Amino acid sequence: MRAVLISLAFILSTGTALADRPLTQEESDKLNAALKQEGCSGGKMEFEDGKFEVDNAVCADGKTYDLDFDSSFRLIKKKSENAQNGSGPAGKPLPKLVLFLVVDGFPQEQLVKYYDQYSERGLKLLLDKGGWYGNNHYSHATTYTGVGHATLLSCAHPYKHGVVGNDWIDKKTGKRLYSTEDARFKYLDEETPEHSGTSPFNMKVTTVGDELIYANGKSKVIAIAGKDRSSIGLAGQHGTAYMHSTTTGRFITSDYYMEGYPDWWKAFYGGKPQNKYFEQSWSLLLPEEAYQRSTADDRPWTTKSRNLGGRFPHPIVGGAKEPSKAYYDAMMWTPFGDLLTLDFVKAAIEGEDLGNNPAGAPDILAISWTSHDYVNHLFGPESRQSQDQTIRLDRIFAELFAYLDQRIGLQNVLITLSADHGFMNVPEYSQSRRLDAGRIDPDKMIAATNAALSAKFGEGNYVTAWWNPTLYLDYKLIESRKLNKVEVENAAQEFLRDYPGVEAVFTRIQMEQGLMPNTKLAKQVILAWHQKISGDIVVMNKPNWYLFAKPGTYASTHGSPWSYDTNVPLAMYGPNWIKAGKYGDSEVVDLARTIAFILNVRPPNGCEGRVLSEAMN
Ligand SMILES: [Zn+2]
Repeated sequence: MRAVLISLAFILSTGTALADRPLTQEESDKLNAALKQEGCSGGKMEFEDGKFEVDNAVCADGKTYDLDFDSSFRLIKKKSENAQNGSGPAGKPLPKLVLFLVVDGFPQEQLVKYYDQYSERGLKLLLDKGGWYGNNHYSHATTYTGVGHATLLSCAHPYKHGVVGNDWIDKKTGKRLYSTEDARFKYLDEETPEHSGTSPFNMKVTTVGDELIYANGKSKVIAIAGKDRSSIGLAGQHGTAYMHSTTTGRFITSDYYMEGYPDWWKAFYGGKPQNKYFEQSWSLLLPEEAYQRSTADDRPWTTKSRNLGGRFPHPIVGGAKEPSKAYYDAMMWTPFGDLLTLDFVKAAIEGEDLGNNPAGAPDILAISWTSHDYVNHLFGPESRQSQDQTIRLDRIFAELFAYLDQRIGLQNVLITLSADHGFMNVPEYSQSRRLDAGRIDPDKMIAATNAALSAKFGEGNYVTAWWNPTLYLDYKLIESRKLNKVEVENAAQEFLRDYPGVEAVFTRIQMEQGLMPNTKLAKQVILAWHQKISGDIVVMNKPNWYLFAKPGTYASTHGSPWSYDTNVPLAMYGPNWIKAGKYGDSEVVDLARTIAFILNVRPPNGCEGRVLSEAMN
């Protein structure tokens, strides 16, 4: 031992900073004795900042510790090295940070379609060096943003987590309820418009982050997204959600999460960084020939919205003369929304020192990149705008990964990638490819259904509302007229079954009494339908048919049980935990279950995923 210490002291004497100095022989002896008293031995010793430090000493429990002693050789700090890097069964360290990436509205086909145009250390890191599942699907039929984000880190299906759509009808009030609204809570330092997302109240389950916080009480769980329903779903019950505000262009939060903003947030927004992209425009990143695989811009169906125009270069000012609401909103519908997100993400990583948790606990940073969904809505996933946006997002990921590598070392980060839903092609584009495609107008569908029911049961508004993807029946009216509930439901089903663009219709009675057909589609509907919260008649559109609140709002949308909407990326990177390779079948709910397993925490309480053990090191 003495020989080791002497040689260590010699090494230290040749390479320490001015403030440090090698230990004298006497100090080494005393420090060694003090170490022994703690039941430890070995380690690298030095005198630094007025105290003696011993790195990587092995103690009686067989674990490695860092110990600090004051100048009188009294112990002042003992920290487990294993805890710092995390220790787990099978000798696996815990990640210091789980970087949970979600790209809003990103079908699997788009992830692989532009592979050759990705940079070496962005999405390719996940595809080439990580484990990814090519046949990963949502199991529920309702592929909307709120639903998907509530599923992603909870590994629960909507019939359990309760977020059955972006909106639904509140059974108590009969009025629209937005999935993450909660009138008890308000945004900090700015107005809270009606139906704004402020808390996870409507999400009935826990997430991996909640279970991690439950397990150690120290982990930081932060979710950042363009949309409130995205960050709130990812933050779960006990994480912190930041969401983009189109009022001020800032990533804000509500008093559900905190009383006031942290200093780093105030410092970041002191310089109004949200204004720095004003008057820029969006042009193609690569030479025009690189976009042959996508449709040319300015198609007849392109959504003319937010003053973005139909072709490159797209101005992003939203028609505003100075940075204002119109600009803060418009820019999120372009790749500049991702740049704005990246700026805030870096500020949060630094401000919260994510991945360097002083308790040695893993942190979770979940980010949902919203702009991809918006670009797909405006232009379609087959568009060159979508291709360009994806390639630009790849560059942003590369920058983020390099940044984390520098800060905390990428070997300490578990990176995952998924999406809240996929996307359909623009119906008119599908028609041009001679597919059966079209648009359903929910208002017309309600009127036609009411007309059919009125003809049979007497004049009345039997169907009161439609929120994706269900119709709501007025059971009070049905009762007051002494009509048979089952007969009315069946009559609605019979009528809607033959409605243009409709594939299948299911009724409340069918679902409550287990009278569903033994098909995959029926199972997708059952997993998506919550007995207490959902509507009464579920309408499933045919493939390539657009079904959303207003048929003309967007060029394209999502929300269906078809594979273009359910098949989304599932990729994981982190050689400490993940075996690189291309894997086949998985469900989205398997991702959070696997992360909980890697973190050695309880599965979220509604979790139904399996551990993707074949992809684990
Ligand atoms: Zn969307």
